[in-house]
This record gives sequence, C-alpha cells and structure tokens, in this order.
Amino acid sequence: MTESQNSAGSTERVGMAGDQNSPDSRPSNVVALSALTRRFGEGAGAVTAVDSIDFQLDRGEFVAICGESGSGKSTLLQIIGCLDRPTSGEYLLDGRPVDQLTDRELAKVRNSKIGFVFQSFHLLNDRTALENVRLPLEYRRSDIEEPKDPKAMLERVGLGDRIDHRPPQLSGGEQQRVAIARALVKRPSMLLCDEPTGNLDSRNGREILQLLEELRVEEGVSLLLVTHSDLVAERADRRLTMHDGRWVE
Ligand code: ADP
Ligand code: MG
Repeated sequence: MTESQNSAGSTERVGMAGDQNSPDSRPSNVVALSALTRRFGEGAGAVTAVDSIDFQLDRGEFVAICGESGSGKSTLLQIIGCLDRPTSGEYLLDGRPVDQLTDRELAKVRNSKIGFVFQSFHLLNDRTALENVRLPLEYRRSDIEEPKDPKAMLERVGLGDRIDHRPPQLSGGEQQRVAIARALVKRPSMLLCDEPTGNLDSRNGREILQLLEELRVEEGVSLLLVTHSDLVAERADRRLTMHDGRWVE
C-alpha cells in the first residue's frame, strides 16, 4: 500500500502527502523558487529582504549560502522552511505550489518534510534531551511515515549517555546535537540550518559540520546551510552568496 493509493480520497492527506510519494511524479528537486520576493513594511521604510531569487535544491544536495549580515539569508531560509510566506514569486516544494496550501497544510508540511537547526539551538530547557527529540512526534500526523526512534537518534549523534540531561546541563556542541537529532527524527526530506556552528568554538563547529555531512548521506536528506564560515561553505556541493536579497556573482 502506498501513500498515493491512500491519498486519492482522503481529506487528511490534502497537502504534500499525496502524489509526491509516488516516484513517477516527484521532481528531481525538493525546492524550486522563481522570482521569489519577500518585502517587509510599506512605503519609504520598506525593506526587500529577498529580491526576485531563483533557486533549486536537488534531492540529497548540500548547498551553502553565504553573505554578510542583513543580506536576506535567514528570511530566505524561513520561506523555504514554510515558516514565512513570500510577498511574490513561486515556491514549489516537492513539485507542489506552496501558495496553494492553507496555513494548516503549511504547518503540516513544515512538520513532516522539513528539519530545522538554528544557531541558538531552540531547545526547551525544562525538557530532557530525549523529550526534546520526541517533541516533533507529539504533533505527529498520519503523513509522517515511520519516525526514527528518538533514543537511537540521540545515540547516533553521540549522546547515548545524555538522554536524561536537560539543555542547561549540556555543552553548546551537545545541545546542537540534540537539535540535529530532533530535526531528523521525523525523516524530513531536507534539513535547513541557519548558522548551525555560529555559537560554537571551532572544534565543536567542525564536529557538528562533520556530523551534518554524515547524516545527510545516511538519511538521504538535502542540506541547505547558511554560514559565515568559508571552511564550512567549502564542503558544500554548491556555494551561493547573497547580497541585498540577491545572488551575487
Ligand atoms: P541575514 O540572515 O542575512 O542576516 P535577514 O534575512 O535576517 O538577513 O534580514 C534581511 C533584511 O530584512 C534585513 O534588512 C532585516 O532587517 C530585514 N528583516 C528581516 N526580518 C524582518 C522583519 N520581520 N521585519 C522587518 N524587517 C525584517
Ligand atoms: Mg540571519
């Protein structure tokens, strides 16, 4: 039994869960943006944070996005992650136009298809590492197929002996490992990382990058990573630079 067979008559599966899982109809890219624009504010004070961007992210690809502060990197990542919507332009996620999804469908897509890793970890400090990793599964819907075992995921990121620790009892590198485990537990098709090594010293930063590279291959996810670090960007399949909301060079 496949997702696509299920999807035909099921209102629960409206959104992203249907035809994308049939290999025939899946495009080779996970993300396809054309003339994507995000403006904040009105009139003279308006800021065009993302300015008519074209971009494609292929399945399993590792793309690094560089650029100075304020160039629009986080805004772009938020839109790709369905945390925000563009002002104009087209966004196809797994071949489906995102602007046709309701907010509820968008939330569902976000939860089932996209893993986030942020500079500041975004963990719940009053929950244990294991509870943090389980969190995405609490919102679980039928369209998350076979989530990974949270405990096994923590073991995979090297925290098998820390599962009952709370974030304040963990180092920065360990907290980021928890965040990575949490992002991958629902088997997303892509991992979006916004300066994931930005709060870490260079050794921990290198280890986190190494882990992300390994997990990209093991889990078969696309990796889109915003970074200030040339060392990080050099490891990517493709490196893009943003300036004033546009690609440079
Ligand atoms: P980066 O991540 O490259 O530092 P951002 O995407 O955070 O850049 O910001 C790009 C531009 O958009 C900046 O000028 C920023 O001030 C502006 N911006 C970002 N988010 C908002 C917002 N919610 N409201 C108004 N302006 C914003
Ligand atoms: Mg940013």
